[in-house]
Amino acid sequence: MCQSHDRKAQGLGEVHSHAHAQNHTVPERMRSRRDFLRTLMGTTLAGASVMELAWHRAAWARSAGNGRADELFDLQKAADGVYFAHARPQTVINCNAAVFVRARDVVVVDAHSKPSAAAALIRQIRSEVTDKPVRYVINTHFHWDHMQGNPAYKQAGAAVDILATNETKRLMTELSGQRLKESLEEMARQVETLKARSAKAGAQEKRFCESEISHIESYRAEMKNYALELPTITFDKTHVLQDGAFDLHLEWHGRSHTSGDVFVFCPQRKAVATGDASHGWVPNIGDGYPQQWPGTIDEVMKADFEHVLGGHGPMQHNRGVMTSQRNFIEELTQRVAEGKTGGQPLEEMQKRITVRSLKSLESNGYGELLQRTQWAENTHFGSAPPPLQKDVDGCIRDVLRNLDRA
Ligand SMILES: [Zn+2]
Repeated sequence: MCQSHDRKAQGLGEVHSHAHAQNHTVPERMRSRRDFLRTLMGTTLAGASVMELAWHRAAWARSAGNGRADELFDLQKAADGVYFAHARPQTVINCNAAVFVRARDVVVVDAHSKPSAAAALIRQIRSEVTDKPVRYVINTHFHWDHMQGNPAYKQAGAAVDILATNETKRLMTELSGQRLKESLEEMARQVETLKARSAKAGAQEKRFCESEISHIESYRAEMKNYALELPTITFDKTHVLQDGAFDLHLEWHGRSHTSGDVFVFCPQRKAVATGDASHGWVPNIGDGYPQQWPGTIDEVMKADFEHVLGGHGPMQHNRGVMTSQRNFIEELTQRVAEGKTGGQPLEEMQKRITVRSLKSLESNGYGELLQRTQWAENTHFGSAPPPLQKDVDGCIRDVLRNLDRA
């Protein structure tokens, strides 16, 4: 989250979409335009002195190894029949997906930010993994970058059901339309800002701005007449998809990143898809329940699994990142609660709760990992990641706002 008080002079940053805490949850009630820009646009250059084009998208695509350079995902095998579709950097972000190949069909967890991205994954599954049709799509939660691609699965031709918790369906129904409308309006303003920046920029930065603008414009065009595709099978706490290959257990374990997050366990393959309740970017607490989130993860960790397929960031083959994120949320929540009890205003907390003072960020290099991963997985201009403190400041703000949410 770019703290605009010291960044304003630099204009709006690149559309640094990891603005996830940020980009992918426009808060329930739309906040001010400035705040939205802060969340949507993410951060600017870490320092003007290092202004050098590091156009990550192309390098990422070149180094991806599998798949074509123009694909949106890198499909990686986690276990037999279990694949991780790792989203490549995009101006308007896509979430990762988990792909489970069963005896006769396929189950996909999460559906990205737009139908064309979901259609691209469907094509990629067909060309790189299997001819079997996608029979089920699971939305881990209601956020735009995890479900706006749903219509592509309906349009793919085969019978398909979309699964989510009742709570997620309710949130989609109540909030998604308005959030999309507001985000499209905001993106129009964002394009104007990028145009103004481009007019004053050198050749390389101009190219970057133009690429960002073209991606945003194509997203706006695609979403102009968008019709939401709601889940067709919903449940409160658990739903099991049985199959000859393996079973998938869809489980709600409590409030965390939202009130409706579902985890998808595959016991026979020791894998779990976690959406944004556990992933490799700074956790997004904008719609979250900071007091309850760590306990929810404790429940999840009672299950037997090794492979963690999160909604953003790389796949994990151990519980290290899941544990670190849980500890970070717990520690931050405790610090914010103490600050609140002591009567500190938000700005004071943001000064006192520094990256260096948070043990959970220090431990196992978690803070560095977050910074590195977000930088690598988002489009950006410049050669060094912005300070992690900006993200932490955003988390502090969100924790404070949601502290007493039950
Ligand atoms: Zn989310």
